[in-house]
Amino acid sequence: VFITVEGGEGAGKSTQIARLAERLRAGDREVITTREPGGSPRAEQIRTALLAGAAKDHGPFAEALLFSAARLDHLNTLIRPALARGAVVLCDRFADSTRAYQGAAGGIDPQEVAALERVVVGPTRPDLTLILDLPPELGLARARRRASSPGPDRFEAETLSFHQRLREAFRAIAAQEPERCVLIDAAADPDAVASAIRAAVAGRLPQ
Ligand code: C5P
Repeated sequence: VFITVEGGEGAGKSTQIARLAERLRAGDREVITTREPGGSPRAEQIRTALLAGAAKDHGPFAEALLFSAARLDHLNTLIRPALARGAVVLCDRFADSTRAYQGAAGGIDPQEVAALERVVVGPTRPDLTLILDLPPELGLARARRRASSPGPDRFEAETLSFHQRLREAFRAIAAQEPERCVLIDAAADPDAVASAIRAAVAGRLPQ
């Protein structure tokens, strides 16, 4: 079972993924948590370069190609083998982030983003996508308070209107694909978000 968690900055994705993983593991399943960009050694190298702004001057399409190269390695080395074994894979960001960041907010033609997604993701579509939704002002303030934060990365440093476009893009994806996506109110407190996620997972996945 392939579950992805999406949303803007400071939405609480990693906290909620850890909580969901713990819960699913109690049920005796193999559960893998991973993230994008990254998730495999080669993809983590691409992540480091991207977040340092290595491709910024080459434009959003070049960045989308790098995110896609990282995704292909991550899929081939980690995600597809795990799904083939019957594991639950929980992934922090996936192809919807490319649609939202490089597509809607970055300005790449959605048809080009869709073409990349067809080539790279192919049939490995998420069974369920949890979209953590909150106002970008709130999310960016949370992200800045993160103890681990070394300062804003290339994308966190974008303008507020970029982050507003992102939020709209994620909400539009949720509205367009209601069978796959569940929109979760991430402005709520962490326990309330966790229980909304539990309900979404219980309602959408084969037991
Ligand atoms: O979620 P996380 O903070 O680990 O993501 C790393 C950075 O990469 C974020 O700033 C995110 O906005 C950015 N990103 C992106 N396009 C993607 C995936 C992530 O710009 N497709």
